[in-house]
Amino acid sequence: MPIKIGGRTFDESTLRELGVEALKREALLATEKRRLRLLQEKEKAKTRNLRNKFRVTVQRLIREGKLKKEPCEKCGDKASVARMVEYVPQVSLKVKWLCRKCVFKERDKNGERK
Ligand SMILES: [Zn+2]
Repeated sequence: MPIKIGGRTFDESTLRELGVEALKREALLATEKRRLRLLQEKEKAKTRNLRNKFRVTVQRLIREGKLKKEPCEKCGDKASVARMVEYVPQVSLKVKWLCRKCVFKERDKNGERK
């Protein structure tokens, strides 16, 4: 009679061969991995939301004249974007102006991906 462990079905001979305990451990590990992945995705979504909020806030502050767009602080290129240095909504906002090229350079240096 086939037995289900961790969403997978095994026949008896396979179970005998592999050992039930090993399969249980494997199933547990898979569950743990899934849980970890979900957590990571949640964390990523949080960062994404914060970044979006940051962008909107920067645009609003520029519109209201409270923040001034500056050239890239590394190379002086005028086509710069605001990089988030510190941002706590409603509390603090620190930006760094960098052009695309320098943003990529910085990302490479920090080992960030996107
Ligand atoms: Zn630059």
